Amino acid sequence: MTADRIVGIDLGTTNSLVAFMQGESPVVIPGEDGSNLVPSVVALDENNQPVIGNAARNLLIASPERAVYSIKRLMGRGLEDVQEELKFFPFRLAEDLQPGEVLRIGLGEKTFTPPEISALILRQLKRNAERFFGAPVTKAVITVPAYFNDAQRQATKDAGRIAGLEVLRLVNEPTAASLAYGLDKKQNGIVAVYDLGGGTFDISILRLHDGIFEVIATNGDTHLGGDDIDNLLITIALDDIQGDLEIDLRRNAEVVQAIRKAVIEAKIALSSQASTKLSVELPGGKHYLREITRAQFEQLIQPIIDRTVGPCKQALKDAGLKPEQIDEVVLVGGSTRIPKVRALVKEMFHREPHTDLNPDEVVALGAAVQANILGGGSEATENMLLLDVTPLSLGIEVAGGVTDKIILRNSTIPASATQFYTTQVDGQANVAIHVLQGERELAKDCRSLARFDLKGIPPMAAGMARIEVKFLIDANGILSVSAREQRSGKEAEIQVQPSYGLTDEQVESMILDSFDSAEEDFRKRQAIEARNEAGTILSALEKGRRSPAWGALTSDEKKKIAKLEKALIAVKAEEDYQAIRKAIDVLNQATTRLAELMMDSAVSIALKGKTMDEAGVAAEELGEGPTAPHPMAKAEFE
Ligand code: ADP
Ligand code: MG
Repeated sequence: MTADRIVGIDLGTTNSLVAFMQGESPVVIPGEDGSNLVPSVVALDENNQPVIGNAARNLLIASPERAVYSIKRLMGRGLEDVQEELKFFPFRLAEDLQPGEVLRIGLGEKTFTPPEISALILRQLKRNAERFFGAPVTKAVITVPAYFNDAQRQATKDAGRIAGLEVLRLVNEPTAASLAYGLDKKQNGIVAVYDLGGGTFDISILRLHDGIFEVIATNGDTHLGGDDIDNLLITIALDDIQGDLEIDLRRNAEVVQAIRKAVIEAKIALSSQASTKLSVELPGGKHYLREITRAQFEQLIQPIIDRTVGPCKQALKDAGLKPEQIDEVVLVGGSTRIPKVRALVKEMFHREPHTDLNPDEVVALGAAVQANILGGGSEATENMLLLDVTPLSLGIEVAGGVTDKIILRNSTIPASATQFYTTQVDGQANVAIHVLQGERELAKDCRSLARFDLKGIPPMAAGMARIEVKFLIDANGILSVSAREQRSGKEAEIQVQPSYGLTDEQVESMILDSFDSAEEDFRKRQAIEARNEAGTILSALEKGRRSPAWGALTSDEKKKIAKLEKALIAVKAEEDYQAIRKAIDVLNQATTRLAELMMDSAVSIALKGKTMDEAGVAAEELGEGPTAPHPMAKAEFE
């Protein structure tokens, strides 16, 4: 059987996708409805079953209290971090939330943490991939924005685990986009990645040296994207309708939603046409129709797209670069399909941007490239060494409230570094270790990641203790910290649980009760795997029948095999994986002698100087007769 496939996932604010490496090139896996994009929307249907993607988006209109979107904005964040988001988005936070607690969002009558909601999206992508392969998918690479901090990364990993995916690596989105274009093969250069999606704008400047991407600057606007364009067009349409038809529909959610749908269609049409018609059926048999030309559209959206210029300039300034020094420009995000946006990017960076790949797919495609590298790769990727860097410096607080950096930003990961510290007062038995993330000088200006104490240091004069503090960042950018007083051997260690992170126990229990569907999911996966195995044994038996060995069986043996074969075919159509496995086992037993005879006849034919082909025996049958051992199905939770 084939090795476990590792998929690449773009878990986006607006849309999510899953991709894999097909031969030498990455491809996106479509959902059941044939569409490559799964809207990042989760809703509960009337039976309280989760619905994801386009179906959830439809429910969002009818019953907004039963749907959640843009959950990525809340990943790994605490109550005090999200005040700004709450002004823009109708998130319904649980009422009993305590400061410092992991957020919980209302969905129907229940509440869920952001990783649980994201896990539902991931589970849908996983299912799409499993349907596509006809086999279980348990391993993934997931992308995250380059500026995501430890807590946000950790939350993304947790979401993967809750969805039953082992997250082998988190990759920065701009790095993934660059990989999709194969820019790593250039070895050296500066890459600007301009990402204008549904509701966020990110600009990242990467330095590529010896095939390693280093994020040298990031900037952006967390509330800028295609949604702004949609909202502008909706306002214009509503004004028109109010003026011409003298009806005010601002409070009619359903009509506003119909207008939203129409303006998005018009916007998309204008990316490839010179003009389009905006057409909406209104209540009372009225009809709104307006022709929009691309020139008009471009004029309207100019102020919106101009808001990307400031962040780009700032990123260049932070990177200490002039536009002429940019070697490659990569476009990411559905909104970069707009020709006017492309023109603006070209003007800013003095370069023609790469546009060969779909901008809303390119991150997932890059994730698939990375997944393939981690999975052992193919010829195309086996010589590629791929590393990422940590986006922010990590350190501890030292005397005077000062930040002492231990691992500097842009260090390639995995990374580790050690620094030595000592005690401040005579006889000091405990030292407080305060782990920080950020570039600022003072601890209070950096993000506090964790605190722990190293206790029980034997009495010594101030300055005598020798405390070794070790930082280790794994390949996902996740940190663990240990401290050891060397004279006494006292140690303390923590895997940094970010302030708003979930504990392992919480994740475990979420895995178990993620809509109580884990059990059912497991069964389905087992059934898929058992069916595949059944397919293998049935086709091996088919070959066996055509081989000379078949003639050597007694008629009883042949009858028994035929009966068991029929039984397996029948049970294979059902969902009961245990029954399928049982049928495989008995058929395997009944065909043991056939397999042996096939081996013998293959060997004796070879001895007679005939080739296997001539005798109608494929070489693979030597090793993979009907009784060849099949690998057991993997359990979902390792
Ligand atoms: P995100 O990364 O935020 O999840 P995407 O990269 O999928 O989102 O971008 C989604 C946005 O792209 C939406 O606002 C959508 O309307 C817009 N979009 C998609 N296709 C086009 C197009 N052809 N022309 C203009 N905008 C588009
Ligand atoms: Mg995106």
